[in-house]
Amino acid sequence: MNVRNLLQNLKIETRAYINGEFVESSSGAKIKKFSSIGGEPLPEITACNENDVNLAVTAAKNAFKDWAALTPLDRKNILLKLADLMEENRQELALLDTYETGRAYKNYFYDSIPKSIEAIRYFAESVDKYYDKAIPARGSEFGVIVRVPLGVVGAITPWNDPLVVSAWKFAPALLMGNTVVIKPAEQSSLSLLKVAALSKIAGIPAGVFNVVPGYGEIAGKALALHNDVRGIFFTGSSEIGKQIMIYAGQSNMKKVALECGGKGPYIVTKNCGDISESAKVLAENMFYNQGQICSAPSRVIVDESKLNEFVECLKIECEKFVPGDSFDDENNVGCVVSDEQFKKVQNYIEIAKNEGAEVYQAKTKKPHSEKARCIQPTIIINPALDSKVTTEEIFGPVVVILPVKSTAEALEVANNSKYGLAGAVFTDNIDEAYSVAKNLEVGLVHINSYGNDDNSAPFGGVKESGLGKDKSTYAFDEYSDLKTIWLHSRK
Ligand code: ADP
Repeated sequence: MNVRNLLQNLKIETRAYINGEFVESSSGAKIKKFSSIGGEPLPEITACNENDVNLAVTAAKNAFKDWAALTPLDRKNILLKLADLMEENRQELALLDTYETGRAYKNYFYDSIPKSIEAIRYFAESVDKYYDKAIPARGSEFGVIVRVPLGVVGAITPWNDPLVVSAWKFAPALLMGNTVVIKPAEQSSLSLLKVAALSKIAGIPAGVFNVVPGYGEIAGKALALHNDVRGIFFTGSSEIGKQIMIYAGQSNMKKVALECGGKGPYIVTKNCGDISESAKVLAENMFYNQGQICSAPSRVIVDESKLNEFVECLKIECEKFVPGDSFDDENNVGCVVSDEQFKKVQNYIEIAKNEGAEVYQAKTKKPHSEKARCIQPTIIINPALDSKVTTEEIFGPVVVILPVKSTAEALEVANNSKYGLAGAVFTDNIDEAYSVAKNLEVGLVHINSYGNDDNSAPFGGVKESGLGKDKSTYAFDEYSDLKTIWLHSRK
């Protein structure tokens, strides 16, 4: 079924959500953009400026004391209610995200929106099982180490998985007792504004949860520079991640956590017994969402003895991920997010061709609008190690295949990257698997799988992939400070 018509029934909210109300920016500015599915103009969204961000931060500051004074159980129940409301509104959230980002509705409805709801439930269910720590008593001395919320927390999120990444941040932040101001990506703000409306129904008090859509260099910058914001939590490019660290240093030394780019190494050794499975898993994780995933395994490093078999298997698998109509609810791959992104990815493919690398693209064609910004799954075989296509994050359905002569060389090639987010090794040799996993410079390594970790796994990288972790109960540490209370007994 084509679900595009369902958009007509929606009352789409495009204003900022500040202090429990939907409001226009004081400047009246709007974000103007076009659909990557059909090229038509999309709803114009309020573009917040520094004044609007100030209002949101002040509201969050004023709301902090009462919110932090609630018990974890109270906050848990409110967040569980929000998760239930999101589930009830799952179709609308999926439609809004598809409309704005061009990604397939099927992805959002069956995977991304449920994942964001599951993440909120995971954090909500965990928070009241958390204990603080005691320092063993010694004579008349006794200490406890408690976690305290930071205060007002800022979050800046990307467009590639809007509600999942937002939930990874706002859920643990709110549950730890912080109040939140979120600046969603200019490409994808509508679903979070809907969540803001639901947050009010769920009982989140005015000022506790604020959404300030707008441009990164205006609204995002104002949030990251704000002296009353005590932590800034960012997902996006490494370039802007570095900028966020500068803003923190230029203002109040706020806590910073960054989940940035990646160029995931995917090592297939000579001891991999099931090449066809390794190619299938690669395609599922690389071509899903048109490759617009920071942890995508975009660098396959394969033993040369397995190269041909792997490439032949991958060519077959990539036919399953050709893009089609984003609103067809049976179609699993839609468009890239924008014309700009489309051109950027095409440019990388051109670079590979001009440099003489072998470039293969899926052959199947699926029906979609002529104006749709879709890219066929693309395999670049044996580009130069220093080529831009090998070293830079393409953020499209484009994988590079790098043959190597040994597992030692595979590790060297894998670690020769400024990124270190996620990676994998495919081998039937347990010693080799463990050794590669131990030595890969990434935050998350899969052995003979990819991307099937759940909310219990910390997510975040090393090197220029960032610092700090989303997901898992470790995320609570990011949104709190440790405080020691030391007691001296006079008796
Ligand atoms: P991408 O290349 O994936 O769009 P960006 O790093 O540019 O990633 O954007 C991620 C988020 O960071 C978005 O919400 C964007 O608006 C925001 N952003 C971009 N530039 C800045 C900036 N100078 N200061 C703060 N936030 C920014």
